Amino acid sequence: MENCIFCKIIAGEIPSTTIYEDEAVKAFLDISQTTPGHTLVVPKKHVADIFEYDQTLAASVFERIPKIARAIKASDSSIKGMNIVNNNGAIAYQSVFHSHFHLIPRYSSKDDFKMIFVDNSANYKQEKLTQIAAQIKKQF
Ligand code: 5GP
Ligand code: ZN
Repeated sequence: MENCIFCKIIAGEIPSTTIYEDEAVKAFLDISQTTPGHTLVVPKKHVADIFEYDQTLAASVFERIPKIARAIKASDSSIKGMNIVNNNGAIAYQSVFHSHFHLIPRYSSKDDFKMIFVDNSANYKQEKLTQIAAQIKKQF
């Protein structure tokens, strides 16, 4: 894919700090290093976002993520947990439109990663939940 920065990294045209690579994925350190070890896992096949994955590609990417996550965690005993984040669409903070998974090691509640889940449960009675679920279910 022309002008895709991650395709260029995969092709070796742009340098990256690689931690793992095989025929299906490349995993390299994110330049932002939100926390130390912040890694991107990228399918070698160019797909823009999660909506473009077929089952085969999804299986090959997702099956590799736990072993990459374990290797990162094992590399530093001060890593206590990990957030795995996948942004899809500019509205969802995606800035590079070649799908990727952020593996963000967590060291403490005061490290540099933040995520806010607002609790709107007071506004959602069962009837509303059932209605939302029905709308989604009929799309399969
Ligand atoms: P997104 O916002 O699309 O979920 O994440 C894109 C990520 O790619 C950002 O965290 C950004 O720091 C990272 N990134 C952008 N350009 C490069 C690059 O050239 N090299 C590396 N290693 N990471 C990059
Ligand atoms: Zn690409």
